Amino acid sequence: MTELLYQTDSYLQEFEANVLSVLTDERAVVLDRTAFYPSGGGQPCDFGSLTVGGLIYPVQKVKKQADDVMHFLGGDAQLPSAGSTSLGTLDWARRHKLMRTHTAMHVLCGTVFRDYGALVTGGDMEPLKGRMDFEFATMRGELVREIEAAVNKEVAQAREIRIRILPREEAFQIPDLIRTKINLLPEGIAQVRIVEIVGLDLQADGGTHVRNTNEVGHIRVADYKSKGAINKRIYIEIA
Ligand SMILES: [Zn+2]
Repeated sequence: MTELLYQTDSYLQEFEANVLSVLTDERAVVLDRTAFYPSGGGQPCDFGSLTVGGLIYPVQKVKKQADDVMHFLGGDAQLPSAGSTSLGTLDWARRHKLMRTHTAMHVLCGTVFRDYGALVTGGDMEPLKGRMDFEFATMRGELVREIEAAVNKEVAQAREIRIRILPREEAFQIPDLIRTKINLLPEGIAQVRIVEIVGLDLQADGGTHVRNTNEVGHIRVADYKSKGAINKRIYIEIA
């Protein structure tokens, strides 16, 4: 089982961990703790490196499998052995861009829900750009500039982002969470991580975020696409 350090500290760039197990065929190691985000919720995984016994392995992919986080190592150096201590280092430039992008996505969905009552059905992101799907029948080209102005106004409000991990029962009592389909969370999940953009948005979310919307930068609504009468996709870019 891997302790997920990024869940409580998204700004951790370097960490020490023990190698729990080694999957030779896949060139992957499971660590007892990690700051590497293993992808999920539309946020892609982190890259970086793992240093073990003086050898530096590039971390090329990170994936969660049940309670373990697997770190896939590049190069052809001999793999470390289970029990060794390691130093993980994130590609921080990439991760910080993803944090800005992920928070921008929440600013977008919080604003669109507040102003138009449209619900999110999905989303995906890369560093500094993302797309989000809404049930948004009235979306049309003329709204693009209006939405862009509204999201940048929220960014400029310098809203704090708060992360909390709550017992399931307690989380279910927060009425605002219902719209993000918290009731779809599997029975087995005892704790729910809540990401709140104070005064704007509240979601059950596992991703990494900046501390304050003033760290996001400028959000451009780059495009929108109709995916049918109801479903609309909005594209954003962050600068
Ligand atoms: Zn999210």
